[in-house]
Amino acid sequence: MKVVIAGGGWSGCAAALAARKQGAQVVLLERTDMLLGTGLVGGIMRNNGRYTATEELRAMGGGELFDLTDENSLHRDIEFPGHRHASLYNVAKMEPMVKKLLLAKGVEILCQARMTDVEMKENRIAAVSGKQGDEPFRLEGDVFIDTTGTAGPPANCNKYGNGCVMCILRCHAFGGRVSLAAKAGVKEMTARRGDTFGAMSGSCKLLKESIAPEALATLNKTGVLVVALPESKVLKGKLALKCCQQYALPEFEQNIVLLDTGHAKLMTPFFPLDALREIPGFENARYEDPYAGGLGNSIRYIGMAPRDESLKVEGVENLFCAGEKAGPLVGHTEAVCTGTLAGYNAVRNVKREKPLVLPDSLAIGDAIGYVQKQVRTDEGLSLKYTFSGSVFFERMKARGLYSTETGKIQDRVGKAGLTGVFTGK
Ligand SMILES: Cc1cc2nc3c(=O)[nH]c(=O)nc-3n(C[C@H](O)[C@H](O)[C@H](O)COP(=O)(O)OP(=O)(O)OC[C@H]3O[C@@H](n4cnc5c(N)ncnc54)[C@H](O)[C@@H]3O)c2cc1C
Repeated sequence: MKVVIAGGGWSGCAAALAARKQGAQVVLLERTDMLLGTGLVGGIMRNNGRYTATEELRAMGGGELFDLTDENSLHRDIEFPGHRHASLYNVAKMEPMVKKLLLAKGVEILCQARMTDVEMKENRIAAVSGKQGDEPFRLEGDVFIDTTGTAGPPANCNKYGNGCVMCILRCHAFGGRVSLAAKAGVKEMTARRGDTFGAMSGSCKLLKESIAPEALATLNKTGVLVVALPESKVLKGKLALKCCQQYALPEFEQNIVLLDTGHAKLMTPFFPLDALREIPGFENARYEDPYAGGLGNSIRYIGMAPRDESLKVEGVENLFCAGEKAGPLVGHTEAVCTGTLAGYNAVRNVKREKPLVLPDSLAIGDAIGYVQKQVRTDEGLSLKYTFSGSVFFERMKARGLYSTETGKIQDRVGKAGLTGVFTGK
């Protein structure tokens, strides 16, 4: 059984681990020189309903990556506007930890390996190809997983955003995102934002050293720094740009909200540098990601694959998807949960076993099923879905799915007959 995964973000890493635990040979292709994709500059975990989803996946035997983010947290159980019991992982240390775990489990990782082509045999993928550095590669597989995400490439950031602002994805250096599903002939979906398309990433990072010592000391100690903005510096309308609708609250427009993820994570899509430097404590502010964070941010949610509740891509017999590719699901937790199911079901597909569909009695199952239906409507495609806020967290609360009681969550998983289902051999 050979599983080939394109895209080494959180969803691709989770899919690789899950497939490997089911005994498959797994090759993970990543076009840049590091795993984790947008997760290289993320860090927020366990906020609001993400806590529940994390504990559900752990109860199902898929918790290894969450064990790593917990272990690598700079701050635990913190609060910031609209968000409770969050953990913040250290972005500087996360990627090597994940890579080490995957290698130890026997996943073959090819970095700087950009998939650019697909060979089809009727409605199945026979092989993918591309270049690793200057060397061409061609990989046959029994089943494939598209975890290439939805960010960029620069043409989309130019067309739907404020241009390439030089984000962590480093498209100019490594070549832009290429979608496996699209190459296999699948007609993809694009999120809408009013009259335009896609959504802008919702945070940028400042170099910690560029912040005044007193402000930095508070940030380092508590994990959070909230500084009220004078009325003249409030940029109205920025919230509507955001893909992270869980942070589209007035508090994020009226204040500077910084979180300590190793970087000083500034919870706004962009903030003009000159205006930022007029605020006490930020006189020397400098962006770390994106480098042009004063101008804009990356555009995401272009190119999502239509798929069923088992995460199989419609129209291709041996293709699964996860993370942002599987719909407007925002977040690392969401990527790890969907990645784990996609990896697991990819192996069942090879074994000709019925795919696992998680029930809606679990927050993870409900999210996967709900988003699959929502994207069929224009309104649904204009929203983003996350366990941590906005529409889906409201739904979790209304359906009684939100909980921070691990025992209760384990019972729920047990009642669904899914305890340890992803544990593997
Ligand atoms: C600036 C920013 C901050 C964020 N902060 C947080 C946060 O704090 N907490 C949180 O939960 N979420 C956060 N998010 C959202 C979160 O990072 C994503 O929703 C989630 O991690 C997406 O994972 P993914 O695997 O689907 O996609 P991605 O992270 O986009 O990964 C896709 C990977 O595929 C690779 N790839 C693309 N095409 C190819 C190809 N053809 N061949 C090989 N490889 C390819 C890319 O290089 C990339 O590594 C943030 C996002 C951004 C942009």
